[in-house]
Amino acid sequence: MYALVDVHKRYGLRTVALRRLNLEIRTGEFFVLYGPAGAGKSTILNLLAGLTKPTTGDVRRNGQSIVHVPPERRDAAMAFENYALYSHLSVAENLAFPLRAAGLPKAEIETRVNRIAGVLGIPHVLHRRPGFLSGGQRQRVALGRAIIRPADIYLLDEPIGHLDAKLRHRMRAELKALAVEMKATIVFTTTSSKEALALADRIGILNAGRLEQVGTPAELYNAPANTFVASFIGDPPMSFLSVTARPDDMAAALYTADGQRIGTAPASAVGLTGLQVGIRSNAIQMVEPGAAGTLAGRVEVVEHLGHSNIAVISTGKDELQVSTEAEIRLRPGETVGLQIDPAKLHLFSGGAAFADAAPARNVA
Ligand code: ADP
Ligand code: MG
Repeated sequence: MYALVDVHKRYGLRTVALRRLNLEIRTGEFFVLYGPAGAGKSTILNLLAGLTKPTTGDVRRNGQSIVHVPPERRDAAMAFENYALYSHLSVAENLAFPLRAAGLPKAEIETRVNRIAGVLGIPHVLHRRPGFLSGGQRQRVALGRAIIRPADIYLLDEPIGHLDAKLRHRMRAELKALAVEMKATIVFTTTSSKEALALADRIGILNAGRLEQVGTPAELYNAPANTFVASFIGDPPMSFLSVTARPDDMAAALYTADGQRIGTAPASAVGLTGLQVGIRSNAIQMVEPGAAGTLAGRVEVVEHLGHSNIAVISTGKDELQVSTEAEIRLRPGETVGLQIDPAKLHLFSGGAAFADAAPARNVA
């Protein structure tokens, strides 16, 4: 197990890359660090690799500090986004390099090179030199060189970020299967929600040097700790409606700005300011405008995804993303009715998930 303990990382005087961060990477797990550019993902990998040291705090392996262990003694295999390949060696020789260095027998090297080339979809370029490869092929060779050898931990920094959508999709499946087979401990960074959800045993969502939430894909999707996580996990992202809570029987009812009752909440929500409900696109049904108990909205934009459409609907104050069947034709400017499933609402107060919001939060 690896751990960052109270790690604060500054570059120079001004830039704070990580803020008192605590994180555990379990042995054998596929851990995805997911966050926008500049969040601190690469910094975490560099700390685990020993390429940089924390300003304060500790980096541990199985409980022991490794802050002073140099990179070459850490047994971490790395693939960085712009990893330089040996330009005078063929792809096969580049892949074989770490295995030769480890003194593996020739026959085994050949078997492994072919296996990895198959996984990465590059068997046809094994004889080529890096200068004759596309950017995506080079990136796959760099990834292959990292994962070809046994290592205590694999640090993969946006390793498939340069590939086109179709190839990324295939690589996700191949990489996941290989990781399971290798029982490898992997820390993988990405800026893609889909990639994080598809690959991870656990995801850490990083934002401006802070971990917003750590959990399984299902935990983050079903019980986001705050609106940042909610809007960052899932595609299309969760939409938010501002609401107020008014007393109602023993509990509270939630009302939108135009007075529509859309759900219930615990009585403790009454009087709170900054209440929002988060709604996933599949919790909203589009219905005839004006029907009782529905919200009125105006179609702003329609995005065609082939099998379905995503419509951005304005309710005046807020915007909701609704997924609809591909056959339903919507025109921008059109008025529609929205039926929201009250059992699928997520309640947030001041941006944080509202505690005890049992009726309003759907933990599947
Ligand atoms: P990410 O990988 O999530 O994009 P990084 O870890 O690369 O984020 O960067 C986190 C922050 O630290 C950013 O503000 C970045 O500009 C800054 N940073 C990263 N590396 C250095 C460096 N070597 N010197 C100065 N600032 C850096
Ligand atoms: Mg980075």
